[in-house]
Amino acid sequence: MLQKFERYPLTFGPSPIEKLDRLSAHLGGDVSLFAKREDCNSGLAFGGNKLRKLEYIIPDALSQGADTLVTIGGVQSNHTRQVAAVAAKLGMKCRLVQESWVPYSDAVYDRVGNILMSRVMGAEVELVDEGFDIGIRASWEAALEDIKDRGGKPYAIPAGASVHKYGGLGFVGFAEEVRAQEAELGVHFDYVVVCTVTGSTHAGMLVGFAKDGRASRVIGVDASGTPAQTRAQVMSIAQNTAALVELGREITEADLTLLEDYAYPAYGLPSAETNEAIRLSARLEGMMTDPVYEGKSMQGMIDLVRKGYFPKGSNVLYAHLGGVPAINAYSYIYRNG
Ligand SMILES: *Cc1c(COP(=O)(O)O)cnc(C)c1O
Repeated sequence: MLQKFERYPLTFGPSPIEKLDRLSAHLGGDVSLFAKREDCNSGLAFGGNKLRKLEYIIPDALSQGADTLVTIGGVQSNHTRQVAAVAAKLGMKCRLVQESWVPYSDAVYDRVGNILMSRVMGAEVELVDEGFDIGIRASWEAALEDIKDRGGKPYAIPAGASVHKYGGLGFVGFAEEVRAQEAELGVHFDYVVVCTVTGSTHAGMLVGFAKDGRASRVIGVDASGTPAQTRAQVMSIAQNTAALVELGREITEADLTLLEDYAYPAYGLPSAETNEAIRLSARLEGMMTDPVYEGKSMQGMIDLVRKGYFPKGSNVLYAHLGGVPAINAYSYIYRNG
């Protein structure tokens, strides 16, 4: 579906799929759980889902002759850390606007994990006192102007690399990769569970899996806490991406499943149940997840298995999108494990 688009390789190649035997057995054994490890998809500063999206965005930046990648996120944004790594790898400059999206005040919150790595990789980090919003921000537009005033050529990458004309393509590729791996492994996945916030991961999957009739089997777990906005953003990116790749059919609301029950208490804050899910998958599988994103989709998947949402015998693929570096910023919560 992606032959006509230029791709700049930033990942190792297909990310591995791993069976989660002990977690599956712990939850009763009626459903087989697997994880596709986007969290180990690249050697660029711990990897993650934004690199797969950036593979289709970077050629556009290069063709425009840009010298500075400019993007935005929260203080512990995984996305900004991945953009900083790509800029370093390509010999470009990087300007990051990091807003106060999460009302959390661990003593080391703005010094460890993602933001630490972005600083070490040489990005110019600007902390801005604005709250959570997945839309286009004034602070980001000001940063773009500032680079231009200094004689630089900025390339604008929106939050999560989502609302960009090519933002959805990377995860169309994810679906194609899964189809190839299913043929190799002799497994068919009945459901894919994905954490959804800025929307292009989920949107790309909708388009990629629409090709084989599985769009509605993509179960989005909202972690934004602003699901109406996230839902609208997934829909518009999916529709734009479907047209770009000439899917041959529209993506409609009927294709979109976004579960709103696991984002509480707020974006970036784990609930007791999120922490229980993080500890369970860590202790049964040695697989780390984070309190902002993957801990919530893990919580959602565990809850759905316990409620019998997936019919007996289903194969469920958990898309592990990365994000573990952020757990360092929540050290107080996990001080005793
Ligand atoms: C960005 C991110 C997500 C959400 O992906 P979107 O495309 O923004 O919806 C989920 N998990 C992790 C670890 C992320 O970094």
